Amino acid sequence: AVAPPLLEVANIEVVYNDVILVLRGLSLAVPQGKIVALLGANGAGKSTTLKAISGLLKTEEGEVTRGEVRFAGERIDGIDPHEIVRRGIFQVMEGRRIISDMTCLENLRLGAYTRRDNEVRQDIERVYEFFPRLKERTGLAGYLSGGEQQMLAIGRALMARPKLILMDEPSMGLSPLLVKEVFGIVRRINAELGVTILLVEQNARMALSVADYGYVMEGGKVVLDGTAADLASNEDVKEFYLGGH
Ligand code: ATP
Repeated sequence: AVAPPLLEVANIEVVYNDVILVLRGLSLAVPQGKIVALLGANGAGKSTTLKAISGLLKTEEGEVTRGEVRFAGERIDGIDPHEIVRRGIFQVMEGRRIISDMTCLENLRLGAYTRRDNEVRQDIERVYEFFPRLKERTGLAGYLSGGEQQMLAIGRALMARPKLILMDEPSMGLSPLLVKEVFGIVRRINAELGVTILLVEQNARMALSVADYGYVMEGGKVVLDGTAADLASNEDVKEFYLGGH
């Protein structure tokens, strides 16, 4: 038998403030060890999808009103976001959301808040191997450049030793060179640490260059999905998301 995917979102509906229907029967699957990209125009519901998985919807008056989210074979929709982190899912929010009046190191330690083991120090060293620049920055995180803040946000996620990282727009606000660097690190985190990644990105070209599989969302549901290679050569995807080239 084929193993079930690590993450399975089945036909979910999400409503904000009891009235605004944003996801309308969205389904997707993320197999263990893969990178999956979630593409779509502004407002398609990509961030909402990630928050439905991480449980952070609750903090914005949102709710999964239909369907199921399953992780490692168990239902997680409706459970507490901290419990979801404990089970191995960590969301790197759009806009980075690091704590600007804490140091880099303090931000990294925060990522480990659900852990009870004594290997935090060694994991901080591992984060520094991925992001050597963070080791040199001893001041407050608020003074880091945009690229460094994005790296810190990803480093903080790694501190939770997640099985699955949900990444919302890691390229946002970064120069093309930094975007390349960040995506190179996304690929390494997947390849070297075996972390499964679900990636939301406006930069479809970059996302498809690192992903194994992709989904395209429109109006709160999936309208197209396929291998990254198939999507990258799909005429509609090219026209609407890859700038027509
Ligand atoms: P973007 O790239 O612009 O973030 P997106 O595809 O991630 O787009 P979402 O942020 O998920 O889309 O938003 C989908 C829809 O849900 C939008 O119409 C948005 O206005 C609405 N929405 C998002 N958050 C809330 C909220 N907290 N309360 C009410 N409506 C919301």
